[in-house]
Amino acid sequence: MLSARGLRVEFGLPGGRTARAVDGVDLEVRPGEIVALAGESGCGKTTLARTLLGLERATGGEVAFGGRPLGRSSKALKAYRRQVQLVLQDPSGALNPRHTVYEAVAEGLRIHGIGDDEPARVADALARAGLRPPERFFLAYPHELSGGQRQRVVIAGALVLEPSILVADEPVASLDASVRGEILSLLLRLKEDAGLGALVITHDLGLAWSIADRIAIMYLGRIVEQGPVEQVLTEPRHPYTRALVSVLPNSAAFLDGAAEPVVLAGELPDASRIPGGCRFRPRCQEVASGAALAVLGRCEGEDPVLGSGAHAAACHLVHARMAA
Ligand code: SF4
Repeated sequence: MLSARGLRVEFGLPGGRTARAVDGVDLEVRPGEIVALAGESGCGKTTLARTLLGLERATGGEVAFGGRPLGRSSKALKAYRRQVQLVLQDPSGALNPRHTVYEAVAEGLRIHGIGDDEPARVADALARAGLRPPERFFLAYPHELSGGQRQRVVIAGALVLEPSILVADEPVASLDASVRGEILSLLLRLKEDAGLGALVITHDLGLAWSIADRIAIMYLGRIVEQGPVEQVLTEPRHPYTRALVSVLPNSAAFLDGAAEPVVLAGELPDASRIPGGCRFRPRCQEVASGAALAVLGRCEGEDPVLGSGAHAAACHLVHARMAA
């Protein structure tokens, strides 16, 4: 339904340098599917999400919806944004403190010129977001609601346009632990009851495990591993994914036994200084340990591609082991 092919987003920087924030990404969100996009802060996940939403212009590649490339005219983008709705991390920032819940949810209808049955549409969206009875919330202001209720209002504001896909950027990161589960359950219910697809951007692999069907691991502008969430988190293949899983507090549950925590060398490099060859090489534990000696020439000379298959990893060592 929503797909990216070879997507690139580059930014010019002072001094003539170029940051490659998104550097050749292929990704799909299918109907009724939740895909988690995970990786460290600064890896390009939010830029990728903004580009999928048409809020950032791609410098290469293509975004398509329903098999058709995304149009650039304001009319085409407006129609597209009705189908693919954004849910932001911080509901307090997403809601105007001077707007009632009713006004906040009705805003999208007004922008899209949907004038019929406005109160019924707003009530239905609030009810589907779990705010019941909806009329009780119509005249409430954001400061009168809990954090979880505010996030439900933001989700209702997306649902009122009856989208096919939600793009949710760290949707529970700003909420108390006690209400995170409620919002995640809501996303799952919307998928199961209404077939709503979602791309959930998160740095939290535990969250991805709870709600996603598939997961894509992003490192320095590229997807380095993707596949069904159970397979990727219980049998991670890419050294970066293995390192991320190994330091989870409950990694033993994922990996079927305790794993030695892998502490990656150094920081995530700047997107304007992407290393040559495999972009993960300067931090790769397999290179440091000598386990990648047989493929080191390729690690140094060529950025590996993701490869095909339902569970794929962009790593020369993984490819060599699978071919053996
Ligand atoms: Fe490490 Fe080489 Fe695999 Fe890159 S290609 S992740 S450097 S083993």
